[in-house]
Amino acid sequence: MTRRAMNYTNVQAEDPEIYQIIKKEEQRQKEGLELIPSENYASAAVLEAMGSILNDKYAEGYPKKRYYGGNQFIDEVESLCQKRALAAYGLDPKEWAVNVQPLSGSPANIAVYFALMNFGEKLMALQLTEGGHLTHGADANFSGRAYKPVFYPLDPQSQMLDYDVVRKLAQEHRPKILLAGYTAYPRTIDFSKFAQIAKEVGAYSMADISHISGLVSAGVHPSPFPDMDVVTTTTHKLLRGPRAAVIFSKRATLKDGKSISELIDKAIFPGLQGGPHEHTIAGVAIAFKEAQTSEFKTYAAQVIKNAKALAESLMAEGLKLVSGGTDNHLLLVDLTPFGPGKGIFVQQALEEASITANKNTIPGEPASPFFPSGLRLGTPSITTRGFKEGDMQQVGKWIADVIKSVKDYNYFPEKEKRQAEIDRFKKELANNEVIAKVRKEVNEFCSKFPVPGIE
Ligand SMILES: *Cc1c(COP(=O)(O)O)cnc(C)c1O
Repeated sequence: MTRRAMNYTNVQAEDPEIYQIIKKEEQRQKEGLELIPSENYASAAVLEAMGSILNDKYAEGYPKKRYYGGNQFIDEVESLCQKRALAAYGLDPKEWAVNVQPLSGSPANIAVYFALMNFGEKLMALQLTEGGHLTHGADANFSGRAYKPVFYPLDPQSQMLDYDVVRKLAQEHRPKILLAGYTAYPRTIDFSKFAQIAKEVGAYSMADISHISGLVSAGVHPSPFPDMDVVTTTTHKLLRGPRAAVIFSKRATLKDGKSISELIDKAIFPGLQGGPHEHTIAGVAIAFKEAQTSEFKTYAAQVIKNAKALAESLMAEGLKLVSGGTDNHLLLVDLTPFGPGKGIFVQQALEEASITANKNTIPGEPASPFFPSGLRLGTPSITTRGFKEGDMQQVGKWIADVIKSVKDYNYFPEKEKRQAEIDRFKKELANNEVIAKVRKEVNEFCSKFPVPGIE
């Protein structure tokens, strides 16, 4: 991917404060390794579209059915985006509808629930702590309050999906929606099995492919199409588009005699949102165009190769991975061999070493969601930057060195003791020689891999 540097001359002239902050963030992105699996670099074309005058138009409604005038060109933008979204997955517009207005992944999921369930009905999904998303029925989220979540567990030994257990629980609870697709699951998902189980129990089948939609469109992960009734995805993760989301739905699937596609459109507007962000939708259209190039397909395959190489490197350093490896773009380091609840120390130590990743719960989390025992790593960003398998050995070694350098800081369930330990950790961080050495090496290494669009 090529991305010209943006020069922000207008921002600089009008608002030097914001300009300086953008410059500092550019520097941070340039010097460090971005290993958060849900992040990536959008292309210059995507960024330009998002910065365009399309921002200025109100377009409540849908193409050819707007509440305001002057939307003839906005209609073209949205229709083109719909066409490209369907084409990216080889879908026939007669069979599949797509709504490209969701402002992000969370509202997209909520809109699907709002369309297909009454309040209090059952949503069956994977729990947040096992790799699910907040919007999949978590207690702190609207989805967990308005609906009744039923969670299927991962197999405790393999730490992978167990479709027989999913079937058994689905038969027992008869959910309205059976949801597959996750935020922190490093393995292949068999969507056809989920669709089959949903059919058996009379549930709608829903896939949330936010993390892997780029792998699916590139043909390097099995597709939820045509089996699932509804598929949601964000567009800003592996897919490299704007922060937004889309919802695909099968026109022929009905609820109370109505097509679920119509119900989903109504749930987005007027149900949940007002005016669509057409400048973003233009960027989404560009991202779906880019996703259909052979360059993107090569990129997606390389993301997986890099994740597998990183997994090998970490395991060679003696680290334990959830499920013992990865099939996709992400991996989860299980830090419990060093003790529970150490994610917070590891995340901060890595950040100090110019490596950005996030602490994460692991299946069977022994500590807590705020002080989890795992570390989530992903390769979409560094692959965009040009890293190959050979570079992953070095990346794995740095991560392992940093983890080992902070392994003796302990998690305490008691609040005061815990805070004292965190304070001690923070104080000693500046004197950690391993971290200082890794940071220097990372910064030097990164100078060989320019971030697209940042000079
Ligand atoms: C990222 C993600 C979302 C939410 O997306 P936001 O744009 O952050 O609201 C939903 N579901 C899954 C599986 C995700 O990974």
